[in-house]
Order: sequence, then structure tokens, then C-alpha cells
Amino acid sequence: MKRTFLGVLTLALVLTLFWQRSPTLAQAPAQPLNPAVAKGHGGAIATVDSRATQVGIDVLKAGGNAIDAAVATAAALGVVEPFSAGIGGGGFMVIYLKNADRVITIDGREQAPATATVDMFKDPDSSTGDLLPFMPNRISNGAAVGVPGTPSEWAEALSRYGTLTLAQALQPAIALAENGFAVDATFASQTAQNQARFTAFDSTQALYLPQGQPLGVGEVFKNPDLGKTYRLLAEQGVNAFYRGEIGRAIVQTVQQPPTVSNPPFRVISGGMTLADLDQYAVRVRPAVKTSYRGYQIYGMGLPSSGGITTGEGLKILEGFDRGQDLGQIDRSQVWHQVIEAERLAFADRNAYLGDPEYVDVPLMGLRSENFTSQRRQQISDRAPADEKTFRAAAGNPLPYHIDPSPSLTALPVAAAVKTEEGLSTTHLVTSDRFGNVVSYTLTIESTGGSGMVVPGYGFILNNELTDFDPASPHPNAPEPGKRPRSSMAPTIAFAPDGRVMAFGSPGGSTIITTVLGIAVNLMDLGLPIDEAIAAPRISQRNGGVTQVDSGLETGALGQALTALGHVLEPSPEIGAATGLMIQPDGAILAAAEPVRRGGGSALTVRP
Ligand code: GLU
Repeated sequence: MKRTFLGVLTLALVLTLFWQRSPTLAQAPAQPLNPAVAKGHGGAIATVDSRATQVGIDVLKAGGNAIDAAVATAAALGVVEPFSAGIGGGGFMVIYLKNADRVITIDGREQAPATATVDMFKDPDSSTGDLLPFMPNRISNGAAVGVPGTPSEWAEALSRYGTLTLAQALQPAIALAENGFAVDATFASQTAQNQARFTAFDSTQALYLPQGQPLGVGEVFKNPDLGKTYRLLAEQGVNAFYRGEIGRAIVQTVQQPPTVSNPPFRVISGGMTLADLDQYAVRVRPAVKTSYRGYQIYGMGLPSSGGITTGEGLKILEGFDRGQDLGQIDRSQVWHQVIEAERLAFADRNAYLGDPEYVDVPLMGLRSENFTSQRRQQISDRAPADEKTFRAAAGNPLPYHIDPSPSLTALPVAAAVKTEEGLSTTHLVTSDRFGNVVSYTLTIESTGGSGMVVPGYGFILNNELTDFDPASPHPNAPEPGKRPRSSMAPTIAFAPDGRVMAFGSPGGSTIITTVLGIAVNLMDLGLPIDEAIAAPRISQRNGGVTQVDSGLETGALGQALTALGHVLEPSPEIGAATGLMIQPDGAILAAAEPVRRGGGSALTVRP
């Protein structure tokens, strides 16, 4: 049975390769116009890019499962969305295995090398210990690079729950890298936006700024070096990356960044060694489960703050009665309460959350009913008097912390220095004919990561270590071998009526507020997944003003929130999300963004 399936799949992959080698495609492959929303049966894929979505659908059609499709799709995104994701980064995968009725999470987060210290981003020229400027210095250097987790995460997911080998799952992405694809508006604008810092690195300039300029929309981009790297992974497995020639090239890049002779800004080097790569391992962790208005929501636990912070926000909100009649809901009160719940949840996140292998996080207290209801009581009918300057203080979960090994540390006082504004990262969802579901967020941190392409290997290294708080003591302070706290929040939820939903988003710490907002749209306001994703975003991260999608501030909801005292700041893009919803009879609604980041792409196996 398995052999027949593999035969069919191999044939499909060969056909894909053959098709993609055709001269027409090599000359000017137009991006197929996949819709952002798709209905159907038998499995689905939603991503930000139609070529990646197509790769996933091909895998499902050839008999692969949701896990196979997630890895093949992510590998394709590493080619067509190289500034958001790839093997130089990390991510978090949430998997629902229908037959076993289990949710599993895989932590493929980057890890600090043994040389990491709290002052790793200190300006070498400063006598007062000032940090390097965040942009471009702190994000573009060797010290910011964490040991990548993505190749290991793909291999682990496939070997545990997939039916394909890593070699098979990488084939479509190899074809895309080697045969090329048409540059789309996102690729072109992300290259242009990074042009200044990409010129600091020979390897990046050569790949992404041929003739010194970004490629224009419609031009064909090929990345044979990345094709070669994927082939190495296919032939030798992840050892080529963590213990072989790719690893040696990574260490060389980190220790001696491939700068031009006179880079436009100071580029510091990092201390990652082959031993750091050798010691990397993904973690299979229990999901964070939150029950909310009858829904069971499974999210990512630490070192991501995603599942915990969205969970805290939702538990705070759950105590507000929504009544029986959706038509009667006062939407401005709902979103006012969301803003306030987010503010409080972020105060707690910034104070307590960090890598659980390094910090004793008072999770039981933070997640207790008593604590969240105490937080809810701090929400009034209006915004704080001066929202612009107001910062909520962290709550004290310790009285409700009945864990047998309570934290002995004092309550943290260090205010987090926050720089989590990114639009980068990518989220994908997959489902298969068996009912398995994957919700997977992956990243290289900033759009364009560290800016450093590993010479000869065609992929960009992450700058994930900038997600640490460069302050000590702090639960998220950099330490050797530690994983920086993330906001990524891949989510799978089960409705009381038997529907299964998966969703997630990119967007730095706005990931949390985007995912929370989608949950409220689905679970409080009864929207279907496509509308829940397309709806305007409102984001409060205990940072003063409340960010909203541009235009919301002048509409009826925006005016009502302003009347409640909120200071709304329009933002060009908050969270290019994707999601899907499966009805109990198997009918699927898959959805990507209709507009944000140029619109995404959703397909089902049988429309
Ligand atoms: N590094 C971020 C995180 O892990 C994701 C980057 C982004 O989405 O901008 O939370």
C-alpha cells in the first residue's frame, strides 16, 4: 500500500519537475491566480503564496498527508518567500492527528550558541554599555544568529508523523529553486526594503541584487545554490546541516560575516561553533490548551508566548457575557474589552515568560481562573485616562500558583525593551483526507533575517536572538543554549459543534493580537474563517496607543473606540494570516488573506 502510494507520489513529483523544466515556465512563470478562499473536500492548503500552496496540494493529491504537505509547502516557501522563512530559521508546528485524536507541538525554535551573553549586542565603541542601534546593526550581524531549527523540525515531523522522506518532500522546492519563478510584488518590495543592508554582504548582494538592483515584478529569479543545499539535505539528511558542510559554512558566515570591503554600517561577528549546531535538537512539547466559550483551543507553549498570552487574553474575556443574540452584541464594547485584555496579558507576558528550560515560569498561577478573573476586574468601561502613556503593570500570579515548585525569584521589575514590530514570518495550514491538520508558523525573524546569505548555499540566516530582552535579570535574557521567547501562535481549535479550525499569523508580537482577534471573530462573533481573517485588526501590546488596520480609525467602530478613550494608530499591515475550518461532514473552508501582503492563496484537493 505504502509502496503504491510512494510510486504515485514519485510519478507526480517527476511530472512536476518535468513541467517546471519546460521552457515556458523557465522564461516567465506567471504566478497562478489561486483564490484566497477555497471550499471543498479531501484536504486543503492555505499560505501567503500560490506556488507554495500548489506544492502542498500536489503532495496531498499524490496521497501525502497533512504533515508531508506542511513540510513540502514550507520548503517551497523557503524558495519563494526567502525573506520570511527558510532553513536558516526556526518555527513552531502544531499537529492534530485525527486517528489518535491527539494534538502535538514541535518546537523548532532557534537556540543561542554557548557564547551568548546578556551584553552580546553592546556597542563595542560605547564606554557606557549602550546597545548597538536596532536597525540595521543589531539585526544584521553574526551575533544575532541563533542555531537554526527548521531543517530538524521538518525531519522530525516527517519521521514521526509523515509518510514521505525528507528527500521526497524537498523535490518540488528543489525544482522551484533551480528552474526559477516569477518575482511577485511581495518579493520585489521586500528586496527593495532591504536593499541598503543587503549591500553590506557580498553573498546577499550577488543573489538578491544582481547588477546592484532588486529584480522587478515578473522577472525570473533562480536560486541554484539553494537547490544544491536542499539536494544535500535530501541526500545526506539533516546531518549535512548540523554536522556537515552546510554547518561549516554557517559557522564561517556567523564568525566572519561576508561583508563587502567597506560595509555601510558596522557588522559584528558571532561565536557560533560546530558544537552548537551539533547539540541542536527540536523539542516535542505538550500543547497549551485553553477552553473558551465551549471551544478547546490548542496552541504553542514556551518558549513561545503565543499560546499562553492569547490564552490569558481569552480567559480574561470569557467572563464578559456576550448574551444569546449575535445581532445584539455591542461590537465596540467587545473590541474595547479585547484591547484591555491584550494590554494586561502583554504586561504579564513581558514580565514572566521565557525559555522553560531556563526559567521557572509561574504558569499555573498565570493560567488560573482566580488570576484571570482578578485581571478582568481591572478592566473598566473605558480606556485608561491617557492611553498613550499608560502601561499596565504585571499582575501577581504567585498567590494562585499551586505548583509544587513555586518560583523563588522576586517578581520581575525590569521593563522589557521592546522591538518586536516585524511584518516578517509566514504561517501555513494544511489538512488531509484523513482529517489530520497542521498549523505551522516559521520565520527568520526580521524580513530578510540577518541579511546574510550563507555564501554558496543560497539561504539567509536568521536574526532570532534579537528576540531576547537584552536586560538582566529577566526571564527572557540571553543565555547560552537558551531559546528566545517567541510570539508565534500556530493554533488548532475544536468547536462544540464538531468543527475543527486552524489559524495563525506572522507579525512579531502582533501575532498574538492577530490570533486573539481571529479567535474572537470566530468564537464571539460567529464569523466563518475567511471573514475572521479578512476582518480589520486591532492590536494592543501594552505599548500605549492601540494599532489598527489603516482606515478602521475613521469608521464607525474606530470612532466608537476613540469615544471610549482609545488612541488609535493606523498601521499599514497587521498580520497576513491563514486558516481553515473543517465541518463535521468534512467540508472545508480554507482561507488566506484577500489583501494583506498582496493576498495569499488557498486550495482544496476536491473543490
Ligand atoms: N521572531 C518573531 C517571533 O518569534 C517572529 C518575527 C515576526 O513575525 O516578525 O515572535
